[in-house]
Amino acid sequence: MTSYPEIQLYVGGEWRRTSDDLPVLNPADETEIGRVPVASRQDLDAALQAAREGFKIWSRTSPRARAELIMRAASIMRERIDEIAYSITLEHGKPFAQARLEVIRGCEFFEWDAGEAQRTYGRVVPSEPGIKYLVVHQPIGMVAAFSPWNFPMSQPARKIAGALAAGCSIILKAAEETPAGALHIARAFHDAGLPAGVLNLVFGVPADISSYIIPQEQTRLVAFTGSTAVGKHLTQLATQTMTPVLMELGGHAPVIVCDDIDPNFAGVTSAVRKARNAGQVCTSPTRFFVQEAIFEQFSAAFAERAKAIIVGNGMDSSTEMGSVANHRRIEALEGFVSDARSKGAKVIAGGDRMARPGYFFPVTVLKDVPDDARVMREEPFGPLAIINPVKTLDEAIEKANSLPFGLAAYAFTHSSANADKLADGIEAGNVSINTLEASVAEVPFGGVKESGYGREGGAEGLHHYTVVKTISHRMLPETARRS
Ligand code: NAD
Repeated sequence: MTSYPEIQLYVGGEWRRTSDDLPVLNPADETEIGRVPVASRQDLDAALQAAREGFKIWSRTSPRARAELIMRAASIMRERIDEIAYSITLEHGKPFAQARLEVIRGCEFFEWDAGEAQRTYGRVVPSEPGIKYLVVHQPIGMVAAFSPWNFPMSQPARKIAGALAAGCSIILKAAEETPAGALHIARAFHDAGLPAGVLNLVFGVPADISSYIIPQEQTRLVAFTGSTAVGKHLTQLATQTMTPVLMELGGHAPVIVCDDIDPNFAGVTSAVRKARNAGQVCTSPTRFFVQEAIFEQFSAAFAERAKAIIVGNGMDSSTEMGSVANHRRIEALEGFVSDARSKGAKVIAGGDRMARPGYFFPVTVLKDVPDDARVMREEPFGPLAIINPVKTLDEAIEKANSLPFGLAAYAFTHSSANADKLADGIEAGNVSINTLEASVAEVPFGGVKESGYGREGGAEGLHHYTVVKTISHRMLPETARRS
């Protein structure tokens, strides 16, 4: 096969080693697979300088040329799919097949935004004779971006795609725990011929990097995906210089299961989806509110399929769910389960860490979970589902909306009246009916309430990476021109 790559910084079109580094662990067996460099202040200054120069070049590159280069890089990544997926499975733990799908998804983000690069239309506003009003969208400037560890390639892809398509330069601090996904993207852009300084990749101590880069005058957008707590902190930093933010934060997705649906189909589908990425997805279906008539059947089907999920090393082709990505998820999951148990919840599948090396936790299903259990309010961010009964759709909608989150929400129903009522009433950036997919390249994705601000993807995705400029142009009469 292939080997785990040497992780380096990518600054000003060159690869950099550092004197300080940190270990990268394989979560499936807790062994060290590589080292991630820690950027020094000099490295960050060099990245800022490079991004300044990169912006001058890239913002004046035609949208067509930008799109062609992004498409070239995406095609290189598609050619290297197995190599990239191998790195992702090693550093993250997810099954190799899911890692391959992640790479494809990341490429789709690039390909979609490359198309959008050529569609950042402005407009001409009709006015009195002799004056023209033009509204144009210009690249916002240098983007400071921060991507998390749950999707090592497709999360950095979202940020880089938006910035580069819009004509911005970017300094991306990718996740130290899963650095290879972003490294492979930088390699592909390097090989595709991206001008130096347009894309810069750094790693290090997250708080040191964000507190240095965000307040810089040249930083014109802060783009972050991660927890709501860190998102709020970075937003406060950005506020000091009135720098806009794009925040894709936590969720706690409700799933409303109506009693007109086949409970076995919905239960099995939900269990399989819950296992995707070991539940470490901001859109992962988590709070199932099931109408009473089918509650027992749905719970039983869900639990049975959850117990049958094959958990193991992501390199093993029979594995359906890998380890969780780090020890923090294990500790958090154990805490949620013991708290819910102590408050009366029934554990109908999983519940305990698996007795083997690596960070393995089975798909865990909690039933009849009281409202005061911590997991009813805090995002588990792991393979944990809650199933509670509801009488009516109004009750389900009220429960779905009861948290400060509003990212993804789902419903199962055959009734178009139910679907309409749910889609209308649920407070979320994305509502999906009869599908547990919430985010694809061609539609906008993002949250309401504390799940974030702004949208990535779709026709809206480049808005945040551009600024609107109004140009008022009065045509001077001949006499004025001569004087
Ligand atoms: P965390 O809040 O410490 O970190 C989340 C991410 O933010 C990491 O990538 C981390 O490197 C980065 N980060 C942390 N402090 C930072 C700072 N001061 N400046 C810049 N970046 C910083 O939590 P964690 O244990 O890594 O992840 C757990 C929680 O994060 C989950 O409960 C989940 O809610 C959230 N999360 C969300 C997503 C998402 O897709 N929205 C992805 C990963 C994690």
